[in-house]
Order: sequence, then C-alpha cells, then structure tokens
Amino acid sequence: MMTVYADNAATTKMSDAAIRAMLPYLGEIYGNPSSIHAAGQAARSAVEAARAVFAEHLNADQREIVFTSGGSEANNQAIQSAAQVRGTRHIISTRIEHHSVLNTLAALGRSGFDITLLEVSGDGEVSPQDVEAAITPQTALVSVMFANNEIGTIQPVEQIGEICWKRGVLFHVDAVQAAGKVEIDVKRINADYISISAHKFCGPKGAGILYHRAGAPLFPLIHGGGQECGYRAGTENVAAAVGAATAFAEACSGMAEGASRVEALRKQIEDAIKNIPGSRINAPDAENRLPGIVNAAFSGVNGEMLVRLMSAKGVYISSGSACSSGDSAGSHVLKAIGVPDDRAADGVRISLSAENTAAEVEYLTIALRDSVIQARACVPGMGVTT
Ligand SMILES: *Cc1c(COP(=O)(O)O)cnc(C)c1O
Repeated sequence: MMTVYADNAATTKMSDAAIRAMLPYLGEIYGNPSSIHAAGQAARSAVEAARAVFAEHLNADQREIVFTSGGSEANNQAIQSAAQVRGTRHIISTRIEHHSVLNTLAALGRSGFDITLLEVSGDGEVSPQDVEAAITPQTALVSVMFANNEIGTIQPVEQIGEICWKRGVLFHVDAVQAAGKVEIDVKRINADYISISAHKFCGPKGAGILYHRAGAPLFPLIHGGGQECGYRAGTENVAAAVGAATAFAEACSGMAEGASRVEALRKQIEDAIKNIPGSRINAPDAENRLPGIVNAAFSGVNGEMLVRLMSAKGVYISSGSACSSGDSAGSHVLKAIGVPDDRAADGVRISLSAENTAAEVEYLTIALRDSVIQARACVPGMGVTT
C-alpha cells in the first residue's frame, strides 16, 4: 500500500539537509554556548550563524531574532510582552487565529483586558478597514496571522501593518504557516513581532523563532540566565537552531519553484473534489492563499470518520487543525467563515508540501472518492449520491 503524507500544515518531515546539519551538534560538538572555552565557542558560533540566517531571510537584524521552543511560545511571548505596555488595556485580533494566540488572549481577558476578535469574510479574509475602526486610544496590540492553518487564506498584513504603524499600535503576525512558503519581509510588513516555527518548514520540532523589532517591548516568559540577550533563559537548543536555519534557508531558496509545483497539485485535488457529489470546498475564493492547503466537506460525512477511512488507505490528512482534532465541537475557523455549527465538524484539510508527487496526489484523490462513498454507506439515507 502506498502511503501519502498530506498533513503538512500539522507538521512536516525534516529535510535531509536539516538532519545532517544537526547531527554534529547532537554528537561531538556538545559544548554549552555560554562557556568561554573552545568547545563552548564552537556551539556559540553555530547558534549565531543560525540567527544570522533568519535575520537575512526575514530582512531583520540579528539582535531582533530570539530562539524559542516553538511557534506557541513565540506567540505567547509577543502578545504578553505587548500587553505590558503601560496605560493600555485593549487588544485586537481575529476569530480565526491559532489557539496559541486565542488562548493567550483569553487569559489576558480574564485578567482585565478587553479583547476584540474581528469577524472575517466567507473566504477568511480580515478587512484592514475593520482593524482600523477597532483601534482605540487604549489599544496596545493588533495580532493577525499571516496565513491561516486550516483554510490557507493569506491576510493583507502589509496594509494592516501600515495602519498600526500610523496609529502607533504594536503589530504581531503569527507567520508560522507562511514561513518558507511566502516571502516574509519584516520591514515591508511593518511588524513589531513575527512568530515562526521550524517544524512547519521541514525543520525540527520544538524550535521557534520570534522576531521583535528593535525597540518593541519584549519581556521573558522564562526567567533565568542571560541567554538570548535576557529574552529567553535556558541553555540554547543548539542542534535545533542549526536544523531550523538549514531548513529555512532551503525552503526560502526553493520557494517560487516549490509553490508553483504544490499549487498545481492542489488544483488537481480541488478538481477531484468538485467531481464528488455533495462536496464543498471551504474558502475557495480568497484573493491570496497558501499554495498547498485545501479544506473541503462532503455532505453527510463526518471529518474524523473520513480521516480514519483515509488513514486505513495510507493517506494522512486531518479534520480541523492538529491541536483541535478530537474536539467534536468543530472548527472555530470554519464557524468564523460562516459554516453552520452543525457542519463545522465536517471539514477535512489536505495540506501538501513540495515533497508530494503527482502519483501521490492521484492515489489520494482515488482514496478520497472511495472513502466518501464508504462513509456515506455507513450513514442511513446517505448511500445515494446527492
Ligand atoms: C503550528 C502553528 C502554531 C504553533 O506552532 P508550534 O511550534 O507547534 O507551537 C502557531 N500558529 C500557527 C498558525 C500554526 O500553524
């Protein structure tokens, strides 16, 4: 049986180059980067070289890059830092953010902050005008994701960044899904904070990068030694930083080519989905979208059931996002784009990487058609095509 991994928005397979680059730092080069002897300094130069790679590809300064334990930590740190700006008590974000953003905001809400979560269009787009209208003199921060992890919609972050800049409000962008797939230039976005995560672009898990504009408030979540300029205590995860940088450089250099290949594969899947009776593609008309994410629903077919049937055929997709699957209430993102509550658990997400092949996609589309038929056969009244 063929296996097809099509859940790359949940996590990716590490690239061979990233694994190879990490190995010496899991083995012979084991010094502590804070040690002043040669063994320590070998590790220090690796961490700083990794930082330079992120600075270069994000158009940032090396001092603006902090290594964290992942995208969730980077999001927490950016938002909680901005919330400490004196005299402010309001934060603006959207209904379709990742839970690491939404739950950080919910915690701030419990401690007295006003949180405005903006509505999005039927294609998951945030309107810059809505952002502008929501800003008050109390607003500390606007946090809008670059690209959505469930439906792939890309937000007008440059326009939103300009508004925030003019209004003197801090701007955070969760760019975890965009990194390595779309160019990220911190200056063009006018962002104060940008979060990315290595395991979404073929780097190791547990490695995040937080860009913070020089001068933007930043406070540590982890207190301790002075690592990462005091912004994140704890001995650096040297191998992870090296693997993350290797994967990022690789993803950025092959970006245009990868995106057009992946987009062609996605269109092939969308065409196959349209040929399945009773199917619906979610957020199909977004002006800008990630090349590799398709979110679809099939009437009468529960998303989780479909994921299991596909898995039995060796094809790995997801229902909702990885962090909320198992949550039978359905996706908050699908609800936000207008999918009725009772159908928000029906969506499945197929997310491709540049590693996926045309043969895999062909196998996937056949498995999908068969699984939908199987699922409907199990549900009384749904055996007939609609
Ligand atoms: C995966 C993801 C995160 C969390 O990143 P981790 O490194 O897994 O903590 C945050 N935001 C988005 C949009 C994601 O897709």
